[in-house]
Amino acid sequence: MLDVNKVRADFPILDVEAYPDTPLVFLDSAASSQKPTAVIEAMNRYYRTINANVHRGIYRFSEDATNAYEAARGKVARFINARESAELIFVRNTTEAFNLAAYSWGRANINAGDEILLTEMEHHANIVPWQLLAEEKEAIVRYIPVTADGFLDLSTLDELLTERTKILSFTAVSNVFGTINPIKKLVAAAHAVGALAMVDGAQAVPHMPVDVQAWDCDLFAFSSHKMCGPTGIGGLYGKRALLEAMPPFMGGGDMIRKVTFEGSTFADLPHKFEAGTPAIAEGIGFGAAVDYLNELGMEEIHAYEQFITTYALEELSEVKGLKLWGPPAGKRGGVAAFTIEGLHPHDIADLLDKDGIAVRAGHHCAMPLHKKFGINATTRASFYIHTTTDEVDKLVDSLNRIRKLFRL
Ligand code: PLP
Repeated sequence: MLDVNKVRADFPILDVEAYPDTPLVFLDSAASSQKPTAVIEAMNRYYRTINANVHRGIYRFSEDATNAYEAARGKVARFINARESAELIFVRNTTEAFNLAAYSWGRANINAGDEILLTEMEHHANIVPWQLLAEEKEAIVRYIPVTADGFLDLSTLDELLTERTKILSFTAVSNVFGTINPIKKLVAAAHAVGALAMVDGAQAVPHMPVDVQAWDCDLFAFSSHKMCGPTGIGGLYGKRALLEAMPPFMGGGDMIRKVTFEGSTFADLPHKFEAGTPAIAEGIGFGAAVDYLNELGMEEIHAYEQFITTYALEELSEVKGLKLWGPPAGKRGGVAAFTIEGLHPHDIADLLDKDGIAVRAGHHCAMPLHKKFGINATTRASFYIHTTTDEVDKLVDSLNRIRKLFRL
């Protein structure tokens, strides 16, 4: 099993107190993870020793920066098991990956009356870009329903997934319920009707082994900042033939082969989709994050998260009046969204903060999902490689104190 105390020593922020004499209990990694020293140092080293623009300078620093940036692309591509690094487009984040797909593939392939199939448990990043596209093209967006216990209702698939469906886009892991969806099965179902399959990997890549070839998805989106890497960079994986057929997303420098006053031709993959100066230090930091996670081992990370999540769900279920949302332990990732009768989720988060416990409250960018279940918000604790049972106990003690404070 992962040595959690050894892992904790890798994260300098865990030594910072939330308030005087109040240690930080960071339970919001699903929103954005903390960064290990190896990542911070890799970015620092770039700025201190080889800082220069990439892909264009004919001098040593620029060549070193280009090599480091492209080496990072190779690491990230291998991490999700892409066939080649050219299939990995660097984007700002998962949100940009979906916008790129909807704008580039969507505008070229979606026509009036076509259907785009999503699920009710999607993050807004995998809803809004498709809604914008559907509005422009007079297409139709449909949703696979979610059951009361937080699973996708796959009995509706025959009815919802038809020859009219041009793309099925769904999350691998829900950021609210933690549900781990049957990725291979959904991708195969999409392909069976001739639709494309796009997967939201934002809550999967940080937590479990990912294999885009085994899953056979056509497009796959994820963010560095949720997997120990910096903000400002993420990945869009796509199968080469698909990416080659897709028109560019943004135009400008770096993404062209030739520009004349009359028109332009475009660079090969992956640069066709990367206009302008990229997030260089962030790319290098992303590569360092992948190195770090590989060193710990993704199987070990997943096993530890299953252990700590199971422990947390058991302990939380003992808190009187607390309702846990989503599937049971063993069938979900490391998030626990809950409500407590008589308490507002934001008040809970605010009072937990007084004890140094950082959680998130709100709709977690999944407003339609919350509305479906008749709630405006939940409080969400999320767990990662540095979460200890001691921290879970502090969360539970603090919740019990809050309940007493409100005489519940
Ligand atoms: N998809 C899921 C499942 C998420 O959890 C998130 C972030 O919380 C996103 C997409 C959007 O990620 P980003 O804000 O990095 O674009």
